[in-house]
Amino acid sequence: RSAPPGPVEPLSPEDLFIAVKTTGRYHRQRLELLLDTWISRNMQQTFVFTDGEDEELRKRMGDHLINTNCSAAHNRQALSCKMALEYDTFINSAKKWFCHVDDDNYVNVGSLLKLLSQFSHSQDVYLGRPSLERPIEATEKLGTAEMKQVSFWFATGGAGFCLSRGLALKMKPWASEGSFMATADHIRLPDDCTVGYIVEALLGVRLLRSALFHSHLENLGLVSDIHNQVTLSYGTVENCRNTVNVNGLFSINEDPTRFRSVHCLLYPDTAWCPRPR
Ligand code: UDP
Ligand code: MN
Repeated sequence: RSAPPGPVEPLSPEDLFIAVKTTGRYHRQRLELLLDTWISRNMQQTFVFTDGEDEELRKRMGDHLINTNCSAAHNRQALSCKMALEYDTFINSAKKWFCHVDDDNYVNVGSLLKLLSQFSHSQDVYLGRPSLERPIEATEKLGTAEMKQVSFWFATGGAGFCLSRGLALKMKPWASEGSFMATADHIRLPDDCTVGYIVEALLGVRLLRSALFHSHLENLGLVSDIHNQVTLSYGTVENCRNTVNVNGLFSINEDPTRFRSVHCLLYPDTAWCPRPR
């Protein structure tokens, strides 16, 4: 293979809009870990979308904490309500790139910038990791009795995905000001699938796969070259921890998700990181 192409468009952190989806009961359990780690270095471009007020988080994040007033239920409507607001908030910002992540994702913003700078934000770009081996099949409600089969790829929200402003603007008729929820309802699929539906099935733009995005649906122990990955995650499968392997910084007990260890690997000058001896 030849050398990777140089940047098409040099980017800086201010060009990014990173939306983190969370819910009230995960504020202590998940979000604080992100605030201690990757968000602490990237507060200016990060916005947390939640469903309940939180005085402590408000003090830490100010207007970067967005209380959506969406329901705290884990159903299609509640989740697409948050995605709809993430989208609208991005559109109303002056940022070039929209990236969505879950509250169990670590984002390496340096790698993300390097990846996105290979593209132009005014082109149609939808970047992420598909969660399935094949395109998803769905049924569109056309009229009252009319149904149509559609199949398309989508990027799994649990690994994070990005949209260029150029593409996001084209999504407006199906995504802006409440229409995202109507679209999700029309196709009866979760929020991340609905994004894929709008991009691939309605706009005819293809998902660009990137192996640098990671969810806990994959075996995270197999991820190497942590420095260059864009997103990471953690989870449990059948009582077994599914995390990336980072050795020698914090014990599993001190850092069960491994995110603190990853953070110290990327930013060794962080005050609470163990000093190399
Ligand atoms: N989530 C939410 N409302 C809920 C439950 C979950 O907004 O009622 C968010 C959660 O904060 C996370 C994402 O949805 O950002 C995925 O949740 P989780 O990791 O628990 O589930 P899974 O990865 O298994 O889909
Ligand atoms: Mn998850």
